[in-house]
Amino acid sequence: MPVPGLGPYDDGNIFARILRGEIPCRKIFENEHALAFHDIAPQAPVHVLVIPKLPYVSFADFSAKASPEAIAGFVRAVGQVARDLGLDEPGYRLIASMGADGGQEVPHFHVHLIGGTRLGRMVT
Ligand code: 5GP
Repeated sequence: MPVPGLGPYDDGNIFARILRGEIPCRKIFENEHALAFHDIAPQAPVHVLVIPKLPYVSFADFSAKASPEAIAGFVRAVGQVARDLGLDEPGYRLIASMGADGGQEVPHFHVHLIGGTRLGRMVT
């Protein structure tokens, strides 16, 4: 699905390259649906990126095209990563940037899992 400002899926994007093992990452979780790794420029004590294994350019693309099984598997993976990191208490924040106005930089759908401190009302 074309996304304004993003274009079609590009196999050369940095997360596609991480998925293929061409670029290293600090991996913390992987299953058939998702890969989770530490953000290279953390904005909080815990800043993890969770990405689907399949090539969705954005949340809009993922939500429209992924199978119910893939969506459920991805969401459960995000929850498991947070639980494994001990974040259920005291909590955490999930962010998915979408398109130009959302500030999305990497054109492979990803969720930021941010925590480890008391966050302000919003991260911008
Ligand atoms: P976006 O702005 O697209 O929502 O978030 C992209 C995120 O990817 C940023 O937080 C950025 O720090 C992170 N990032 C960009 N390049 C790399 C990389 O090569 N490795 C890792 N681990 N994170 C990256």
